[in-house]
Amino acid sequence: MFVDKVRITVCGGKGGDGAVAFHREKYVASGGPDGGDGGHGGSVILRVNDNLSTLLDFRYKRKYVAQNGENGQGRKMSGKRGEPLVIQVPRGTVVRDAESNRIIVDMSTGEDFVIAKGGRGGWGNAHYATPTRQVPRFAKAGIRGVERDVILELKLLADVGLVGFPNVGKSTLLSVTSNARPKIANYHFTTLFPNLGVIYVDEGVSFVMADIPGIIEGASEGAGLGHDFLRHIDRCRLLVHVVDVSGMEGRDPVADFDAICEELAHYSADLAERPMLVAANKCDLLAPDSDNLQRLRAHVEAAGCALYEISAGTGQGTRALMRAVAERLRTLPPITMYEPDFIDELAAPVDPTEFEIEHLGSTWVVTGVWLSRLVDNIRFDDYESRNYFDQMLRKVGLFDRLEAMGIRDGDTVDIYDLEFEYQR
Ligand code: GDP
Ligand code: MG
Repeated sequence: MFVDKVRITVCGGKGGDGAVAFHREKYVASGGPDGGDGGHGGSVILRVNDNLSTLLDFRYKRKYVAQNGENGQGRKMSGKRGEPLVIQVPRGTVVRDAESNRIIVDMSTGEDFVIAKGGRGGWGNAHYATPTRQVPRFAKAGIRGVERDVILELKLLADVGLVGFPNVGKSTLLSVTSNARPKIANYHFTTLFPNLGVIYVDEGVSFVMADIPGIIEGASEGAGLGHDFLRHIDRCRLLVHVVDVSGMEGRDPVADFDAICEELAHYSADLAERPMLVAANKCDLLAPDSDNLQRLRAHVEAAGCALYEISAGTGQGTRALMRAVAERLRTLPPITMYEPDFIDELAAPVDPTEFEIEHLGSTWVVTGVWLSRLVDNIRFDDYESRNYFDQMLRKVGLFDRLEAMGIRDGDTVDIYDLEFEYQR
């Protein structure tokens, strides 16, 4: 089974909580605060592995969570950092945010990418020993790691994509021109995995060609296998359209050519306009009285494409075709890289005074990005920490706004995980 698109959840580890602790030592009168910091949560990291050629592994495991940071301890001992979690992906995997469908990263260059950052560890109370706060019973909680759903989509990195009906000889062409050894058989849909081959034309002149499973009629409407596979040639700079001119299967090469072009156009207008060379294959089987080749040539040239007569079976004409491909590639722009257009709201700085208040009976529901982060960072089991929270709410003007909206003593204020009774 070939898997080239999956949805997974990635989650950075939670940061450890800061500790509230006090220095205790025999014969030492006043112990100062010495609670250590929580360790940062581990991040989830994407890494290219060139031995992978499908996203199959992701079918069986959908959630990827990095390790949490450990809590801080007394004697200023920081908690251990959470271990990062490395996810291996095939080169050419394009990662999108599942919600917005925007591109987060194109894993083509080989650089690691942090897809879900671990949460920061909270500071222990040792950090808060200030001249005015000599004995702080105050520490911060660790922050949750980033969690998001992403879609991984494999888009192969190939200069040239082979397209054509099943059984026309695409795999054979790749095998006789490159180091690739795709499966070849005389029946339709032999190729279920895309194959990549490197073709060396001359010293210093080479390119990568991809053989994708056969496109069938109606594929672009999801009728067959082809639709899923067309994305593999999205990046290709040039298409080589292989047509069987032998007529052995009772097919008409002109009709085949048009059908495939139509499929490409249905899939994407962009792909329909991709530069294309036509390889008229199985010329060795051409009957002497057949006009298939002449008709195809006239048709293809009228459509503005060059036609090359080949026989992948005997190797005839294949070198000339590969030279023509290399020549054409020199004039074409490089392989498409997908530019990220995802805006990471979780990482952007936010205005603390930006929040919304909803009034529902005697409950006031407050929401805001900055507030949600603040709530994450408070240890509600701790008086000082709650006190700090209270000060912050005052500072950003929450209480002023609640009063202006008519809140009364005894009403409930609801801020994310937190609910409290309002007292002026
Ligand atoms: P694909 O489905 O387009 O990848 O086609 P394959 O490369 O698997 O080839 C299908 C069949 O056609 C196989 O039996 C090949 O041996 C045969 N074939 C491919 N090219 C030629 C050719 O140029 N001449 C002849 N006689 N047979 C060919
Ligand atoms: Mg094949």
